[in-house]
Amino acid sequence: MPRGRPTKRRAVKATAYAPLTDEKWSSMVPFGTFVITDKDDGTEHKFSKDDIAIILPSGREPGSNMELWEYWVGRIKDIRAEIDEEGTNTVWAKVQWFYSGRDVADVIKSFDPASVTGHERIYADHYDFVESEAFDAVISVTTFNENDPEPPFIARDEFYHRYTFEYKARTLKPKPGSAACTCQMPYCPDDTLPDSIMHFCPRPSCRRAFHQSCLLAGKHKESSSAEALTTVHVKPSAAAPLRSARKHASPIKKVSKTTTTAPPASAASSSSSSASRALRLLACSPDTDDNVDLESLVALTMIQGSLTNNNDDASDVEKPPKKKRRGRPSKNAPNEAASGPPVEVRAQPVRALADTLADLPPLLLQVAQQPMVRGAAFRPGGISGNIGFVTRARRLVYQILEGSSLPEDWEVQVFSEHGEVRLGAENAIVQISGARKPLPLVVCPKCRSAI
Ligand SMILES: [Zn+2]
Ligand SMILES: [Zn+2]
Repeated sequence: MPRGRPTKRRAVKATAYAPLTDEKWSSMVPFGTFVITDKDDGTEHKFSKDDIAIILPSGREPGSNMELWEYWVGRIKDIRAEIDEEGTNTVWAKVQWFYSGRDVADVIKSFDPASVTGHERIYADHYDFVESEAFDAVISVTTFNENDPEPPFIARDEFYHRYTFEYKARTLKPKPGSAACTCQMPYCPDDTLPDSIMHFCPRPSCRRAFHQSCLLAGKHKESSSAEALTTVHVKPSAAAPLRSARKHASPIKKVSKTTTTAPPASAASSSSSSASRALRLLACSPDTDDNVDLESLVALTMIQGSLTNNNDDASDVEKPPKKKRRGRPSKNAPNEAASGPPVEVRAQPVRALADTLADLPPLLLQVAQQPMVRGAAFRPGGISGNIGFVTRARRLVYQILEGSSLPEDWEVQVFSEHGEVRLGAENAIVQISGARKPLPLVVCPKCRSAI
């Protein structure tokens, strides 16, 4: 967010943008910062090397009712001053430009700036010298990586960039559209059509967003086929070892799309009801390519048999389950309790998944079970969508299922951005403006996971 808003402080003479020769530049004295003082109220604005600043465009009058996005944006690479004989300084900065979409389209004729919003900038390898009086305020430009399962929240009035521009080669990196859908069309954050919303698959080998319209056109939907019946848990194995720390000894089973799984007994996954859809969304982890076996994550309290237990320490009677890495079910579950001297271990009746989930704060569970989406039809999601919130909420739920206690500051952990909680449920819970129907039950074209 900008630290200062554009001001109406002074006229900028046209020579502020006049080209400066390299020879002249190298004759100047280097500085680390410069300060511009408002003529009307004396406010000082400090600009330092590496700051990103908004700069009054050449030919525009200061205070001519400009919107923030109309300013030029550049990173200050170097500051130098010409010391005049009377003792006054003329300060110049070497600036690396952040282009607008229109700027790029002026250079690459085939580039369509429609997918670039007003506040989006494209970091270019193009430098200029600009006199200090044209600088207006220090701002930040957030980096947006479309494949990041935990992108920063980007409000619609914040500057951000997702591409870099090589001027001489006339190329953008990454290539627009290459990071997204099967249709190779880039994500267009201003497209308000409900079907243009993009669904993100967070799994490590996917990490892509797909247009809802493309998913529907490709029939990537849950139906009565394998996806709808896919269990979010694995059926108890008859051969589960007695000493298993888990009721269900099997580690995650990969779900093959060709498997025709019989509907499991559990009511939670016996139909494609919204409850089971929510569980399938929850089971799609940002940290593993496997379907998270939610039931086997549920922590189990073990009671050591008193006859074989020589340890009188009461605190040892109940052993907390071992902690595992977030969202990553253990592949060694059957052996966990087997280490150390042999003791008889009997398992308490395992808590049902539904009971454990019911004890969570409803908002936490609701966020964790959201589809990850971005697009202008879901305005409160900003530019990058609800993906970061949902990723953090899912990781937290996995940890709690594994036996960790709910952190007191869970809301801070899920919702804080830029070190402050300025966001909440409305930014994370998907509401599509103008849509009468609920979101379709789409799946990832690559891994068939609920997304
Ligand atoms: Zn598409
Ligand atoms: Zn996927």
